[in-house]
Amino acid sequence: MPLKFVSTNGQSPAVNLREAFLRGQAPDRGLYFPEKFPTLASEEIAAFAKLPYHEIAFRVLSKYTEGIIPADALAAICRDAYNFDIPLEKVYDRVVVMRLDQGPTASFKDFAARMMARLMGRFLQEDGQQLTILTATSGDTGAAVAHAFHNVPGVRVIVLFPIEEVSLSQRKLMTTLTGNVRTVAIDGKFDDCQAMVKQAFSDPALKHLPLSSANSINIGRLLPQSVYYFYAASRLAQPGEPIVFSVPSGNFGDMMGAIVARQMGLPVKKIVASVNDNDAFPKFLASGHYEKIVPSRNSVSNAMNVGHPSNLARLVALYGGRMDETGMIHRQPDLAAMRRDLFSSSVSDDQTRETIREVWNKYQLLLEAHGAVAWRGFLDWQEHEPLNGLPAVILETANPAKFPEEIEKTIGFAPDVPPAMTAAIQLPEEFDRMGADYEKFRDYLLARH
Ligand SMILES: *Cc1c(COP(=O)(O)O)cnc(C)c1O
Repeated sequence: MPLKFVSTNGQSPAVNLREAFLRGQAPDRGLYFPEKFPTLASEEIAAFAKLPYHEIAFRVLSKYTEGIIPADALAAICRDAYNFDIPLEKVYDRVVVMRLDQGPTASFKDFAARMMARLMGRFLQEDGQQLTILTATSGDTGAAVAHAFHNVPGVRVIVLFPIEEVSLSQRKLMTTLTGNVRTVAIDGKFDDCQAMVKQAFSDPALKHLPLSSANSINIGRLLPQSVYYFYAASRLAQPGEPIVFSVPSGNFGDMMGAIVARQMGLPVKKIVASVNDNDAFPKFLASGHYEKIVPSRNSVSNAMNVGHPSNLARLVALYGGRMDETGMIHRQPDLAAMRRDLFSSSVSDDQTRETIREVWNKYQLLLEAHGAVAWRGFLDWQEHEPLNGLPAVILETANPAKFPEEIEKTIGFAPDVPPAMTAAIQLPEEFDRMGADYEKFRDYLLARH
């Protein structure tokens, strides 16, 4: 029997992985989450120590794909998707930076996008179907999704991005693709882009369009993001030894990957959810009172400029509460349990830049703004709880070369650009542009169908 996925709003029927993937959001506007998490025995996890990344990915993800995708097909997909390095750079003692920036678009979003594209391509081929992936991006999702789905038969991709909030390199990694990929620059904020995409999904006038989302609301984004937590632990922790992760967080999809890994049996001491000035979650964790930030605040860690993290509904559900898609809490989660498992810290832009400088001067380690937020959040956590010699992993989610102006301003030199990025950003750009106006966007979608 394939695993069942239920909606966080509790008003839609349970579906299997395939349906959850293709739908993105549940019909009741909730988010799909496993009804019950599959688990890995401690011996299965211990065996990861000797396995390459793609094999760990296969063993983790096959727990979800049983009855949906044959094992040999999944193994081939994992090998093909994860053909790049995942460096674990030791900083001091057992504290390590995990660089998730070696994929084709130099951010951690490649991990999920490459898996999703391959699975969706397979599902669509089986059905002889067409699909439009509609996605909003604060910089990195759009590039990762556009690259991953580029030239996948049966798929069209439309990416919305806030024109003022993405760096030139981030933008060019999406706007230089042609063929089945269209990018639309919105004169507005990331929240506007996300709201337009969400509205399109629930618009009766678009009901006849086969739309799906590759945003972090899609469970297909989340599951592959649990794998690198297993991977890091397999290289750093003794069997059964707990580990600490600090995750730079925006929509909390990455952080939920750590939660998924823990639910599946990975021993985790603490997950530090580090955020920028968009501090709705740390405030909620401290007070039990949730107030989303409207409009979201701009910061140097621009991929985390999220005023209302969409994955919070999943976190709240896991701790026995219920939060709807607007951020309204209908039932409080078990806050004491949340505080035991999670720590959350808000890091200002000044602190972010200071951290980039300090880490460079002290360890000759180059972080960009997102990784720096995670580093600083980790230090903040240690003021509350000692690490006691356990392994700790700080996630660096983007390559510094995506933000050359910011890095140069902060430490006085520009980072090296990876060859794949240089090639992509030299191609000519092409994108459409519109205001943050849903009616216009609907017409755009209808005209292009
Ligand atoms: C998207 C992104 C984040 C935030 O990830 P979430 O899953 O939205 O929390 C952090 N860093 C970078 C570089 C990103 O692109």
